[in-house]
Amino acid sequence: MEKLSNDIKEKFEAVEYNYKTIENNINEAAVKSGRKREDIVFLAATKTVEPAVINHAINCGLRYIGENRVQELLSKYDSYDLEKCDLQFIGHLQTNKVRQIADKVSLIQSVDSVKLASEIARQAKLCGKKMNVLIEVNIGREENKSGVFPENLDELICEIKDIENITVKGLMAIPPICDEKSQICKYFENMHRLFIDISSKKYDNMSMDYLSMGMSDDYREAILCGANMVRVGSALFGKRIYK
Ligand SMILES: *Cc1c(COP(=O)(O)O)cnc(C)c1O
Repeated sequence: MEKLSNDIKEKFEAVEYNYKTIENNINEAAVKSGRKREDIVFLAATKTVEPAVINHAINCGLRYIGENRVQELLSKYDSYDLEKCDLQFIGHLQTNKVRQIADKVSLIQSVDSVKLASEIARQAKLCGKKMNVLIEVNIGREENKSGVFPENLDELICEIKDIENITVKGLMAIPPICDEKSQICKYFENMHRLFIDISSKKYDNMSMDYLSMGMSDDYREAILCGANMVRVGSALFGKRIYK
């Protein structure tokens, strides 16, 4: 520790403090919604964060991280301490880049087309694995945003679930930016309803394990609305600095 610069020491202390705060908040929201802390996955969104800081969070107890750019994931990959931590892909993924990450991530959160799912399956097969995926839903039906529209979700899942080497594990959403908490809760509630609807159909070759929604500003609300995976970036690592 002596060799660490003051700058990184400060960052480490902030991350440790933030980690504990978020843990407490997740625990509280879980209990409030009739669940336990263990029922909720706390995934850290690590874009722009240097590996030393990510690894410090892992030392604090973090067990899931997610990157959202392929290039950045590749450049940081050898530095992550992945012995106790799971690496996922959470950003928009181009079909031609699947090959570069298929052997490196345990789950891809952002599948919104059969074309992408088929390529993920093809690359997973080449790595001798089955890839877990979440289907991204464009719950606000926003133009220029990834994700399948809610009304097309069932059809897309039916097309993807029987593809070999891929397993649908749940749903993910990034709702529109809202000024008020009550607005964002409407989107979270709509997502939860979709999640319950699909789960109740009990399709083969699929298990609706995860409902991934909620970020730094609203992960507590998301949990109260039924999320069991939250993706938190700046509340853990501080404001992002884009280089
Ligand atoms: C960056 C990011 C997050 C986290 O955002 P914060 O507001 O910093 O918590 C969550 N999900 C995805 C897909 C992201 O890219």
